[in-house]
Amino acid sequence: MKTVWISDILNGKHDGQKVELKGWVKRSRGSNKIRFIVLRDSTGSIQCVAKRDSVGDECFENIKSALIESSLIIHGEANPDERADGGYEIIVDSVEIVGPVNPETPFPITESAMAAADGGETEFLLDNRHLYLRTTRMTTMLKLRSTVFGAIHSYFRDLDFIEYQAPNFVAGAVEGGSTLFEVPYFGRKAYLTQSWQLYAEAAMPALERLYTIAPSFRAEKSRTRRHLTEFWHAEMEVAWADNQEIMSYGEGVVRKIAGSLLDERSEELASLGRDLDVIGRYADSKYPRMRYDEAVETLQGLGVEIEWGQDLDYSKEKILTQDFDVPHFLTHYPKIAKPFYHRVDPDDDKYVLCHDLLAPEGYGEIIGGGERTWSEEEILARIDEEGTPREPYQFYIDTRTYGGVPHGGFGLGVDRVCSWLSGADHIREVIPFPRDSRRVTP
Ligand code: ATP
Ligand code: MG
Repeated sequence: MKTVWISDILNGKHDGQKVELKGWVKRSRGSNKIRFIVLRDSTGSIQCVAKRDSVGDECFENIKSALIESSLIIHGEANPDERADGGYEIIVDSVEIVGPVNPETPFPITESAMAAADGGETEFLLDNRHLYLRTTRMTTMLKLRSTVFGAIHSYFRDLDFIEYQAPNFVAGAVEGGSTLFEVPYFGRKAYLTQSWQLYAEAAMPALERLYTIAPSFRAEKSRTRRHLTEFWHAEMEVAWADNQEIMSYGEGVVRKIAGSLLDERSEELASLGRDLDVIGRYADSKYPRMRYDEAVETLQGLGVEIEWGQDLDYSKEKILTQDFDVPHFLTHYPKIAKPFYHRVDPDDDKYVLCHDLLAPEGYGEIIGGGERTWSEEEILARIDEEGTPREPYQFYIDTRTYGGVPHGGFGLGVDRVCSWLSGADHIREVIPFPRDSRRVTP
């Protein structure tokens, strides 16, 4: 007999047919004569009705004993029924238990029991993450995530960008020493990469348009709702482009992500309580651009304590973006707030030609990017001025020594984008096994 997906039954593809279903017990209840099993597969869930009279005593006792999360193969008839959740139920002919659940270790894996077990997303759920992944909410998040990754790949590939890989063991910092993970490396020290950028810039004269989606590692000590120690970073680098053009790619990819979610996952978004019109606005709007100075004035106007020259931390971005209705770019940050590879604005050397894209609804930064310091003379001056040793960056300096050209790029935090577009309260909610300063297990 043909195995079918539950979603296909719910979509009316097997009305009245005898079908085989493979899945897991989501709920089970009933009497000594009739059992109602809600069976779940990766596509959905459906109620299966088993009567002692039709399946026989032995099979019925098996069904009764099947604990939540047991895996089953069910044969039966797909029966349209208005009263059933989703409009269908399965009239069961037979049930085979494939993988039982050890009755010695029953686990409260139903959504409500898991939430009740420890009041929601807490240590309990994190300790049992491998089981939490099976809940509807987490399954939904993982599907949204897959769509987001797919959209990023399509966006760049459609524009003829080349996917390019950089090493994860590196010798130097991109984002500053305080968040570097040091690893022993055969008697020497190496670090886990914070960004693909420097190695991508090395290949820019070969490929001109390149991108990646890869993990980046940052030893973020403070635990916030938007920082992981291992996160997925979509980065791009492009030759001959200025800050304005690079921002148009950032806007393009975020709009593409929002549009793909609407096309492929509108049901899932709605199930999370997301307003599809809002996601539609993110997919269709132009994203305004404002200078850092204007943002500082706005914040000061709101009574926020901030001085010119400070980077904007999350608390400030949150206040600034609470009332935005679409993402906004902030440009022209003060040079003193940014690392050496940001290109100084030739019109005013207090600033660098960079941008952050801030997501609305209080989510804040999802992209950081800009033009790179591209002449040999300037890069050496910036490195020395910062007191950064030249040696680990020699290959990077060489890319300027041998035919440097204007170029730039950005990094987009994929998990942050998933968190924002799904409306999650915490970045942990959108990644299967989150890593932060206190947790590398399970
Ligand atoms: P923040 O100031 O929020 O810590 P950043 O300015 O250090 O971020 P960038 O170096 O600009 O971050 O990195 C590019 C993008 O990568 C950020 O805009 C963000 O979306 C994402 N990102 C950076 N650090 C993290 C992290 N620890 N966890 C998840 N995403 C991150
Ligand atoms: Mg940044």
